[in-house]
Amino acid sequence: MLLKRRHLLMGLASTAAPSAFAAPPRKSVVVVGAGIIGASVGYHLAAYGADVTIVNRAGPGQETTAKSFAWLNAFNKKPYSYYTLNMLGILGWRRLQQEIGQDLAIQWGGGISWHADEKNAVAETQDIIRRLEGWGYPIRAINRSEVEALLPGVRTGPCAIAWKSDIDGTVDPVAAAETLVAAAARKGARLAMGTNVLGLDRTGGRVTGVQTSKGLIRADHVVLCMGNDTPPMAATAGLKTPLKESRGVLAHTEPLRPLFGQVVMPPGCDIKQNPDGRLVTGSNFGDSGDTPADGATGEKFLAKVRNFFPHLPPLPLEFMTLGHRVLPLDGHPIVGPSSSDPNVYVAVMHSGMTQAPIMGQCVAMEVLNGVPIDWLSDYRPSRFA
Ligand SMILES: Cc1cc2nc3c(=O)[nH]c(=O)nc-3n(C[C@H](O)[C@H](O)[C@H](O)COP(=O)(O)OP(=O)(O)OC[C@H]3O[C@@H](n4cnc5c(N)ncnc54)[C@H](O)[C@@H]3O)c2cc1C
Repeated sequence: MLLKRRHLLMGLASTAAPSAFAAPPRKSVVVVGAGIIGASVGYHLAAYGADVTIVNRAGPGQETTAKSFAWLNAFNKKPYSYYTLNMLGILGWRRLQQEIGQDLAIQWGGGISWHADEKNAVAETQDIIRRLEGWGYPIRAINRSEVEALLPGVRTGPCAIAWKSDIDGTVDPVAAAETLVAAAARKGARLAMGTNVLGLDRTGGRVTGVQTSKGLIRADHVVLCMGNDTPPMAATAGLKTPLKESRGVLAHTEPLRPLFGQVVMPPGCDIKQNPDGRLVTGSNFGDSGDTPADGATGEKFLAKVRNFFPHLPPLPLEFMTLGHRVLPLDGHPIVGPSSSDPNVYVAVMHSGMTQAPIMGQCVAMEVLNGVPIDWLSDYRPSRFA
């Protein structure tokens, strides 16, 4: 009886449409760019079984990513859908650490900030904290003595309002991009570093890959994660990705013993320490304009750090960076396929260090499944069409 039943089931299975349970054909994808966004997109595509090639003209993370402060946070990100992407980004870094392990070094110490009573800072900060509390972000207002308890030796100066957020982290941005690219390679991705992408390749009106300085790479899909170089290439597939200029200067010290276990943001200053011991500090998160990325600026930044933390050991300046933010015109990500060339996809954004994990996950899924993901629906390229 049992045997008959099994034959019946086998017979039913064999009458099913041949494609019903067949694995879909493996898709080939070329990812242009190995900044933090391309590195994450490439990693997730490889993890989901695609045949991936990551092409980058330099080594991983050498352009905007290398100039990033890389605070992983959702502070003052609005509207709610943008806050959500950043929050999912933070959680995504925790997932990636589970998947990749300790090679992916992240400092999970949260963030601490305080303000003197400058330029409506108190009212603005209260509003931000209230909004974030309503969105479930683990942040709370604290007072000066709590700041002093959390940061022994600090000399806060005037402290009209302060906050502590528990969920934030920070990475060394280049190390993070390198780690994701290496993890992608372990999952089978091909790496074409030192390769310049010259243009999209078309056959019969359809995009069939990319032309590079080292020859043609054919693929079913092309994902453009080219940072500030995205707009002209994306335009050849009918995608508008308007960006605006915003610079950021940071000072990097020589490696030091562990001094900061969290991201610290006193008035007009931001400080963090990378796993290799280097302190990174800048003046704020806005456009630094014409501020030169030279030794004099670096010494000024470090003097501010010392003003708030007079007990610190010498802080020898090692190098300066001048970064050009990848900043879409309206400040929000531009993510999605071209309507004229649906197998060409773009992912360009600011706060890319925070969002890289969720963006990598969503972009890989959309490219491979062809199903639009709701989290991205406010951030499609079509808003600039
Ligand atoms: C000063 C500063 C501070 C920041 N602070 C934070 C922060 O605290 N938190 C946060 O979340 N974000 C922060 N950001 C933003 C974040 O760093 C960026 O959003 C992110 O690094 C962008 O990554 P990307 O991969 O899109 O671009 P990129 O890192 O520029 O990568 C693009 C890649 O494309 C490659 N490429 C371009 N053209 C070609 C071509 N033709 N052929 C081959 N390869 C090509 C480049 O070589 C490059 O590697 C900051 C940025 C700056 C500048």
